[in-house]
Amino acid sequence: TRTPVNVTVTGAAGQIGYALLFRIASGQLLGADVPVRLRLLEIPQAVKAAEGTAMELEDAAFPLLSGIDIFDDAARAFDGANVALLVGARPRTKGMERGDLLEANGGIFKPQGEAINAGAADDIKVLVVGNPANTNALIAQQHAPDVPAARFTAMTRLDHNRALAQLSKKAGVSVSEIRKLTIWGNHSATQYPDIFRAEIAGKSAAETVNDQAWLEDDFIPTVAKRGAAIIEARGASSAASAASAAIDHVHTWVNGTAEGDWTSMAVVSDGSYGVPEGLISSFPVTTSGGEWSIVQGLEIDDFSRARIDASVGELAEERDAVRKLGLI
Ligand code: NDP
Repeated sequence: TRTPVNVTVTGAAGQIGYALLFRIASGQLLGADVPVRLRLLEIPQAVKAAEGTAMELEDAAFPLLSGIDIFDDAARAFDGANVALLVGARPRTKGMERGDLLEANGGIFKPQGEAINAGAADDIKVLVVGNPANTNALIAQQHAPDVPAARFTAMTRLDHNRALAQLSKKAGVSVSEIRKLTIWGNHSATQYPDIFRAEIAGKSAAETVNDQAWLEDDFIPTVAKRGAAIIEARGASSAASAASAAIDHVHTWVNGTAEGDWTSMAVVSDGSYGVPEGLISSFPVTTSGGEWSIVQGLEIDDFSRARIDASVGELAEERDAVRKLGLI
């Protein structure tokens, strides 16, 4: 039998955590033959609720779940972690300035980065879901100097999946016929969902759809503002779809992208496509053997260039703001 993989989940008692933990325990994160041990991190007030979720996980009798431990201390929660899903974050509340939001999250992601640096397993892979995800990932990464920067990623897979769904509806094809879609930049309203490099059944997606008005007035804003539309309809923010995307992100990272396709991940820039080195920005990415690489050599049209630059500009501003606050 295989040794269980340690998966640390923060914000485990929250909405996303509730959907995510059952999918991890059922084997959908790492594979149907990989046992997992869950390490849940919560703030002290939410530990009791996390214990309730742990009771339900126990009651599901998942054959692959070999244990659950609950912590309110980051150092212990990340000890021996092979995979870390950083979901808990400080949401923006009414009247909160951006600086306050970044500062509150700095207080969460700095100690978590330090704890990962000190105690995580050598093969640690980190996915940040909690918003502002890209910059939270940057803060954690900057406080983990002994961990390769490539191990810190942020989630744009939900945006990617939303874009796949919208494009499949428009083109009247199954999502499985779409390849090479990309989300560029920040996981925020400035993100750029790019269909110019995408393919539908092997042909250019942009040419197949051939509708610039739809692209600009419908597709791009629908994908970027989908989170708000879900809150409006459901009366609560998206949770199961975010959890599903987190599962997809890690599963793809560990198991590889399909030949002839790529995915979207926010990863540390090496300067590709004019994205300043060190920023954690979403790119077209292939994965193999547990490592990602940014797809190279794509030609970027002017329409796309302007949108990528705007989103990357926002990321640079967020980085400068957390630098000013002394968080990195
Ligand atoms: P959710 O589980 O709904 O969301 C958690 C985080 O994910 C938020 O930052 C949220 O950002 C973000 N997120 C990213 N993508 C999405 C998406 N598509 N849809 C919705 N959210 C998205 O929040 P809850 O308030 O239910 O739960 C958070 C939990 O985290 C609480 O139990 C809290 O106690 C815990 N927490 C734990 C910490 C820790 O372990 N140290 C620290 C802070 C909190 P956004 O706010 O922008 O929606």
